[in-house]
Amino acid sequence: MNKNSVPKTDDVLAKPYAYSPEKVLASLGTSQKGLKELEAEARLSKYGPNRLPQKKDLHPFLKFLKHFNNILIYVLLVAAVITALLDHWVDTWIILAVVIINSAIGFLQEGKAEKALEAVKKMLSMYAHVKRDGAYHEVAGEVLVPGDIIKLKSGDKVPADVRLLDVKSLRVNEASLTGESEEVEKNTEALDENTPLGDRFSMAYSGTIVSSGQGTGVVCATGSSTELGKINTMLSEVKTITTPLLKQIAKFGRQLTAIILAFGVVTFLVGYFIADYQLDEIFLAVVGLAVAAIPEGLPAIITIILAIGVQRMASRNAIIRLLPGVETLGSVSVICSDKTGTLTKGEMTAKKILTRNTALEVSGGGYAPEGEFLLDGKKTDPLEDKNVELLLRACMLCNDARLKKDKEEGWSIEGAPTEGALITLATKASLKTDPSFKRVDTLPFESEHKFMATLNEAGEGSKSRIIFLKGAPERVLSRCQYQGLGEGKSEEIDREWWDTNSSNVASEGLRLLAIAFKEVGNDQSEIDFAETADGFTLLGMVGLIDPPREEVIASVQECREAGVRVKMITGDHALTARAIASKIGIGDGKTVMSGPELDETDDNDLPDIAERVDVFARVSPEHKLRLVQALQKKGRVTAMTGDGVNDAPALKRADIGIAMGIKGTEASKEAAVMVLADDNFSSITNAVEEGRTVYDNLRKSLLFILPTNGGQGLIIITAILLGIVLPITPAQILWVNMVTAVTLALALAFEPMEKDVMKRKPRNPKDPLLSKSMLLRITYVSVLLNILSLSMFTFFSRGYSYEYASTMAVNTLIAGEVFYLFNSRFLKASVINFKGIIATKYVWGTVLAIVLFQALFTYLPLFQTWFGTEGIAAVHWLPMIGAGLILFFLVELEKFFVRIVTAEKK
Ligand code: ATP
Repeated sequence: MNKNSVPKTDDVLAKPYAYSPEKVLASLGTSQKGLKELEAEARLSKYGPNRLPQKKDLHPFLKFLKHFNNILIYVLLVAAVITALLDHWVDTWIILAVVIINSAIGFLQEGKAEKALEAVKKMLSMYAHVKRDGAYHEVAGEVLVPGDIIKLKSGDKVPADVRLLDVKSLRVNEASLTGESEEVEKNTEALDENTPLGDRFSMAYSGTIVSSGQGTGVVCATGSSTELGKINTMLSEVKTITTPLLKQIAKFGRQLTAIILAFGVVTFLVGYFIADYQLDEIFLAVVGLAVAAIPEGLPAIITIILAIGVQRMASRNAIIRLLPGVETLGSVSVICSDKTGTLTKGEMTAKKILTRNTALEVSGGGYAPEGEFLLDGKKTDPLEDKNVELLLRACMLCNDARLKKDKEEGWSIEGAPTEGALITLATKASLKTDPSFKRVDTLPFESEHKFMATLNEAGEGSKSRIIFLKGAPERVLSRCQYQGLGEGKSEEIDREWWDTNSSNVASEGLRLLAIAFKEVGNDQSEIDFAETADGFTLLGMVGLIDPPREEVIASVQECREAGVRVKMITGDHALTARAIASKIGIGDGKTVMSGPELDETDDNDLPDIAERVDVFARVSPEHKLRLVQALQKKGRVTAMTGDGVNDAPALKRADIGIAMGIKGTEASKEAAVMVLADDNFSSITNAVEEGRTVYDNLRKSLLFILPTNGGQGLIIITAILLGIVLPITPAQILWVNMVTAVTLALALAFEPMEKDVMKRKPRNPKDPLLSKSMLLRITYVSVLLNILSLSMFTFFSRGYSYEYASTMAVNTLIAGEVFYLFNSRFLKASVINFKGIIATKYVWGTVLAIVLFQALFTYLPLFQTWFGTEGIAAVHWLPMIGAGLILFFLVELEKFFVRIVTAEKK
């Protein structure tokens, strides 16, 4: 390319990496100051929102058809063919109608579930730091337009395709775009036009993740014009509706089908060769058996229960990104939580200033810069002490936060709370901002190295520059040779004194930041790690309080009762961590393990230690990963929180990775299964509670539905074995299945949580879906339904028509189920009490619906022809209700014995 020729705007925008930043800015009609707000609005309507094109949805009809793709449905379709061949067309039509109705229900419920997930997905929208009208603001990623200047920092997901203008150790993980997991170091140089995507170092592409460093850039492409938009892959967001449990259920369905078919063959052989049935009769009976035993409504119900769980969790601030998380949450046995902002309020206030010569107390709370400085209880002006003044100056300059005042909401900060507290502190002291201390360069804070440094000009007329350093005391101390004294003098550092005094402050639960400085030459314009290694003068330390969240204390207690161990994993000082942990009720108040100690621990010894110790301090992200692995070795289902980009591996590895919605980086959110909308530990406890409830409700639905199928199957088998006419016809059986699946069983999906849900031990994830006691209950109720319904049929067979007797048999079955629905509301606890009987509006709603359905089934002439029923005398409803009551009490009796047996086992 000829350097002097003026490139066309379109050429520049097609290949921004090949042009200098100035040319790109010029052709986008923008500058380093950013766009004007009005111009940005105009561009937004021209280019459209910065959104990726939605994945094309399957056509609704195909979605509907998908619900036929199920082995249970295949069996029903075969049954339809057999009945047609036997000329039993009514049965054929009914079977087909059931299949269609079932798919329609599945389709509608799936739609609802998808909508619920969609709504949850919206809660995870992305933000960007954009410069408009000369200042940076946080805006939704969707409103970015070409020409916007944006800031990128470690942990961010790049929100659009960006030509980089300025970088500082910027490294980006482009795996989502190029598949290459190695991080790429970025720079701002113009490249050859033919540079392949993976080597375009002067660009940061939408959807990739900043793994370290920072930079600014100009947006060149948004939405579907981005490279990501072009390849049209949706980023990992809320995934499709399938979970290990659904897979387990699908497997269960296949096994059940095999069993049903085996039973069918045996029944056929016995009926034909031993019981002397006619061929078409026995065929019909076997078809009846198949349709009786198949729980066709089950998959739809399970999907809806999971979706309701996701919705309930979202309403309690726990946003599930990956559906399997809903189930796993129910079996979590350890929660490893960050401290700052999750267990604590995350609102820092500086309370103490400690220098070698003086110790000041600071009054006031929150971010309002109102309060006094006290020396031995007496008000003092901190700026009179040159050392304190420089310390406060450092607090203000070595800081990226901003203090804001809003008319309605009062004082608040933008940026990290730790830094906000320091700005507030300096403002309280009435320290004025001084432009002659202009910042020249920054070494940003990362939790790995636990400090931050800035290079600043050193004030009016100064011949040198100054590096300010602030960070964790031990990190800063190791870089200091001197300590500051009152009159701006300094002397050799007294480490022992600092160790003792800082420990005293930390044991009060205060977070400590040490502040130091070093003078450098006027020609220095950059700082790097080597520069911060030594030669600093320690100015002093600032102690910040961050009180525990009140509700967390109760949540930790709740976890303890629920058999879930809570561990604090913090980057903070060991003594600070211990003080806060014991206020919250985590750990034994004594044992704390620190990051350096973890480094010295062998991987083989770690599992035991990880299990025993509850407070880990001065921990880095890689320690988190090791701890998760160690706990998993011990068989613990581990939840782990995280917010930084480097927490991602630990979050991915944990059974439930939990990211912070407010302070978390995009990288951590992408790696997590769950995102906390309010960053609050209590929301994790709530999610565990909901997870357990979801599992309970799944089990309740299974416990409820399966005996319906079991009971009906048994009725047919018994009839064949006894050589009597079938008490209920295939058409009637299908009616029962449909009615129970769409009404009664669904009521259980809305069951509120049981009283003792957080008093039980976590579920062992290896436990089978149906425990032995559940199988026992299913068999027991199946047998009871069979006996009751068959007895009713036999009784009414004498003196009444076949239609009358079978109508009685079907209605008895349904009555039994209505009562059994009440039993099923509590797995083991008795329902013979106010709460049990009053139930939920869903339960009573479905009971009402079912009475209506059965009235139609019994008395509507059209239904009488279809289903072969007959209107029954009003007084004959009584024996049916009586049968239901008998079943109800017998099941409660069984629960009573189960309770005694389990209590004995304990
Ligand atoms: P937790 O892990 O409990 O959430 P955290 O994430 O706040 O705590 P880090 O951010 O890793 O922990 O902070 C560890 C230490 O680094 C703090 O104790 C403090 O001394 C220091 N530190 C924190 N923020 C800053 C900052 N902005 N600048 C300099 N040092 C900091």
